[in-house]
Amino acid sequence: MRLLALLSLLAVTALSAAEDKFVIWKLDDVKAGEKKRLAPGFKRVAEWAKTEKTVVTMGVICDSLAQPNADDVAWIKANAIENGGVVEFWHHGWDHRSWADATGKAMAEFRGPDVATQAKHLKDACVIFKQTTGLTFHAFGAPFNQADDATIAAMDAVPEITIWMYPPKNETKRKVLGRTLNMEVATGKVSFAKFAQDYAAKKPTTMMLLQGHCGMWNDDSFNDFVKIAALLKQDGWTTLTASQYAEKTAKK
Ligand SMILES: [Zn+2]
Repeated sequence: MRLLALLSLLAVTALSAAEDKFVIWKLDDVKAGEKKRLAPGFKRVAEWAKTEKTVVTMGVICDSLAQPNADDVAWIKANAIENGGVVEFWHHGWDHRSWADATGKAMAEFRGPDVATQAKHLKDACVIFKQTTGLTFHAFGAPFNQADDATIAAMDAVPEITIWMYPPKNETKRKVLGRTLNMEVATGKVSFAKFAQDYAAKKPTTMMLLQGHCGMWNDDSFNDFVKIAALLKQDGWTTLTASQYAEKTAKK
């Protein structure tokens, strides 16, 4: 009896661990404007995802849509998961700016400015994305992953956003997706060797949100990304979008 109980406990533990092996690809810095065009790396990853029958997420810098490029907008629409594509697009800020204020303090779009300013950036981005693509953001990730308590308050201006990628520590209202491992060793540079080393050392068993800047990837980085995806697939990880993951874990 005790052995049976132990065995069923082990089975339940193994099952719940397997259920948490979800990977979400967080690919930053989509631009789709006349002045800031879509980088070919996004198309390459989306084509890969189609071939692999998997999904990715991509963050849009929305001021690029103030002067939208028709081809880039058509690409977003065609690849959006809502339209049968393989990409969940998410809110990656209005202008993605960082600067130093008069006292030399480091500022960013969502670190430093007051709540009203941050709320305007959040709202304007949602509005222009909807206007140009017909789509609605459900997830947010701040430029440079820099956000503060003002951002948490400002997020109430965009209630349709219920998921926050790499949020500040005080965030409690939205579904938070934190950082465990990295696939890039520097912005825009993927290393399979480093990832495999960290993966073997940390043996993660819960959701991994892996960030990349595929618009900057060279062939080596793209190929290393493909190898990382293959390693995780082989090891039993399921790939989801952020919204799919939120939905799945909400049902538990
Ligand atoms: Zn970015």
